[in-house]
Amino acid sequence: MPLLSDLPIQSLKGVGTQRTRLFEKIGAPSVGALLRLYPRDYQDWSQPLPIAQAPLDTVCVVRATVARKPSQVRIPGGRLMCRCTVTDGESDLHLTFFNNKYIPSLLEEGRTYLFRGKISARGGRAMISPEFSGEEKASAIVPVYPATQGLTSRMISHAVGNALSLLPDPLDDPLPLPLRECYSLCHLGYALENIHFPRSMEDLEIARRRLIFEEFLVLQLGLMQIKDGRQEPNLHPIPNRYPEDFAALLPFRLTGAQQRAIAQGVADMAGKSPMNRLIQGDVGSGKTAVAAALCWPVIQSGCQAALMAPTEILAAQHYQSLSALLEPAGVRCALFTGSIPAAERRKQAEALARGETGLAIGTHALIGEKIAFHNLGLVITDEQHRFGVNQRVALAQKGASPHLLVMSATPIPRTLALMAYGDLDVSVLDELPPGRRQVETYLIGPDKRERAFRYVQKYLDEGRQGYLICPLVEEGETGGVMDVETYATLVRKAFPGTVVDVLHGKMKPAQKERVMENFAEGRTQLLVATTVVEVGVDVPNAAIMLIENAERYGLSQLHQLRGRIGRGAWQSTGILVAGSDSPGSLERLRLFKSTNDGFAIADADLKLRGPGDFFGQRQHGLPQLKLAGSAMNLDLLQEAQKCARRLIRAGELEKEEYRLLREEIRLLFSRTGSDRVAL
Ligand code: ADP
Ligand code: MG
Repeated sequence: MPLLSDLPIQSLKGVGTQRTRLFEKIGAPSVGALLRLYPRDYQDWSQPLPIAQAPLDTVCVVRATVARKPSQVRIPGGRLMCRCTVTDGESDLHLTFFNNKYIPSLLEEGRTYLFRGKISARGGRAMISPEFSGEEKASAIVPVYPATQGLTSRMISHAVGNALSLLPDPLDDPLPLPLRECYSLCHLGYALENIHFPRSMEDLEIARRRLIFEEFLVLQLGLMQIKDGRQEPNLHPIPNRYPEDFAALLPFRLTGAQQRAIAQGVADMAGKSPMNRLIQGDVGSGKTAVAAALCWPVIQSGCQAALMAPTEILAAQHYQSLSALLEPAGVRCALFTGSIPAAERRKQAEALARGETGLAIGTHALIGEKIAFHNLGLVITDEQHRFGVNQRVALAQKGASPHLLVMSATPIPRTLALMAYGDLDVSVLDELPPGRRQVETYLIGPDKRERAFRYVQKYLDEGRQGYLICPLVEEGETGGVMDVETYATLVRKAFPGTVVDVLHGKMKPAQKERVMENFAEGRTQLLVATTVVEVGVDVPNAAIMLIENAERYGLSQLHQLRGRIGRGAWQSTGILVAGSDSPGSLERLRLFKSTNDGFAIADADLKLRGPGDFFGQRQHGLPQLKLAGSAMNLDLLQEAQKCARRLIRAGELEKEEYRLLREEIRLLFSRTGSDRVAL
């Protein structure tokens, strides 16, 4: 029997060429992958309520009988409206449907159905366009899949049903029995059946627990293996001496926190095995200077250093500031990005291969095939959370066990940092350079936007610059969210005579760079942007930021955005425009407004939303987990971590019964898309 992950999706009944493409699009090119494509939600039809007891304005299911044949009329504007009254014997419910001519034939007088929707209290209890189903659904919890145009959740669910029937019996479980017993986890087969078609909410929980545990375990084991793989001898030792001569080049005095981080890094690189360090420092804490200070002794000792940044903008900015600092001191720097002309890049690559270049700065272009180093001694990744673990490893492979330094501005709660960066030692920059003023943050509703715009204008009048952040919307998405261009038009009208420019991810790199350069040099006053500016951009004169639909961002992301301002000598202001007034999102935004401390924000976010938010947002640079993104349970995470440690220490993982689990680890860390699974 072939592995289900090798069984193409078209081997399922009803999946032809066209559907195959759609299944591939949603990440399920094989039967095995489909089984690991978990529902994103469930509709619980299993507990219908009496009409009178159903809560208002929340989705619920009621059981009721059609009292009278539905009546249909055409309303002004040409829409078809159908009304129908249903009853559960005690109370009536008025249903209204629009533009569905089949309703009268689907809802039979005298028959009983389940109706699912929100009940409102307008003129008696009413539901607009509820979903409905025959009574037989009464016990069902219906999975909701991430559908796509042409492939509905129902079609996916049907295919999953077929796929489940192909599971071999008995099915090998990557978690062997003794381990499952030890952590009270169900068998994989049971978990797969119940994650897709749970018999009850309890069964769903049992399935989820098992699958999330497995994801965390695989992640932890992978990270621990990476760390173990680097317990090699230090091939690039440097003298354990604080780089005073470098500090003397800087136009400012390093903060205590920066000095400590530099000393720790130097000590690492002078030690027995290569450095493996994470510098965690809030935005603006001066990580770049620490990185440069650690490059210095490496380059002085005759090795090369590489600094990789996630965007061209950031790479160019690093190149500008670091080459200005280091070139006069005799260190040759070079920039490697996708938009540098091929001939120029080739020339730079040659100088790099000959060892003439001391510091190579670039985007992931640095891990390109044509780039070779002469003697790479130190690899630095900036804004680490934007890179995958495998990219970090790929750059390191350009040298013989170089030292590794990763920098991240995403403040992560300590409990999670240990797990996410379990393979790294950590230095925290918990001190901002002197003279920084705290950003003042306000939270407003969209009705106050005009007033907020006038406030922005005041900053512009004083010669400052500003950011207006607009969420990146998916094509065809609505719900009160504007796309960048529409928003920019509105902004241009609202700020006549102001130089407004637009920056978003879909622009060509060279274009983006031009926009950023104009802004950095003060030619542009207002920058309308998506979260492209989130990462690392440094324009001290920009002192005001307005963030539209602030509720759409994770708190860490908001914190990163806000970190773009408050970088100069001026009082800076952040204005959050809340596009939703749901209590949950307002609570989060209020909390965010109340503090500038990134770690406090991260801790609070962890308490409010659980670790799922962290693992779900791809803010960590770890391989993507499928279910753990919704995990609220920190205990489970910690249990999985303990389990991983035990398996590694006892050498268990090498045994035959862990073959499938080893395969899962390999796949998680080698994955480019989410298309392979071990099944
Ligand atoms: P981040 O940690 O967000 O990457 P940067 O390295 O971009 O921060 O530094 C932010 C700004 O602070 C830069 O303009 C940098 O020159 C400046 N800076 C860094 N360290 C100090 C310091 N010790 N004193 C004054 N300014 C500093
Ligand atoms: Mg930075």
